[in-house]
Amino acid sequence: MIIVIDGPAGAGKSTTAKAVAKKLGIQYLDSGALYRALTVIYLESGKDADSFFKKLKDKDITFKYTDEQFRVWLNEKDITDKLRSSNVADEVSTVASLLKSRERVNELMREAVEHDTYIAEGRDLGTAVFPDADLKFFMKADVNERARRRYEELLEAGEETSLKKVKQNILERDYKDSQRKTDPLKQADDAIIVDTTNLDFEQQVAQICSDITD
Ligand code: C5P
Repeated sequence: MIIVIDGPAGAGKSTTAKAVAKKLGIQYLDSGALYRALTVIYLESGKDADSFFKKLKDKDITFKYTDEQFRVWLNEKDITDKLRSSNVADEVSTVASLLKSRERVNELMREAVEHDTYIAEGRDLGTAVFPDADLKFFMKADVNERARRRYEELLEAGEETSLKKVKQNILERDYKDSQRKTDPLKQADDAIIVDTTNLDFEQQVAQICSDITD
């Protein structure tokens, strides 16, 4: 069984999906973290596409949701701490627009869900990766609210940034993600819309859990 949540940056997909996974005892898959892991490889390749594609073929990418954290390893090296950094956030939409990146991430996700029940979150899961998902949600929220939440998250993680910078990054990523030719950020026709602007966290989780268990 596969449940998907799509939506723009900072809409609350990850925190909500993790809480739903915990409540229902299912697995959690963060597709954005996989694109971020590929971005770490891209940065290691000096932002050179050919060298990136070569490294991408050679790297063993593994991931696991454990202790309430989605962890990613490259050739057995844990790179989870790098995934949320600003230099990764600045380049991830570029990396995610490359067809070879999308093919690799989709392959990793489809392999994983064969073995268990998952709630997965991303941008194109209900439209491109899992068009036959058992249940689809599309989460959205006002951009100022999304920026505020992401800013607080980064502050907690010890990142030095500003609200203005975070909002700018969110707007740029949303633009690139919705404009790219291959598998853009898009709401599936059969997705349930969850607007979280005025919902608190418990309400979001309760709404999604009740839709799943109904
Ligand atoms: O969800 P998160 O903000 O971590 O995603 C980081 C980036 O990964 C997005 O801005 C987008 O460029 C890319 N992404 C994507 N397709 C997905 C998930 C994420 O293109 N399914």
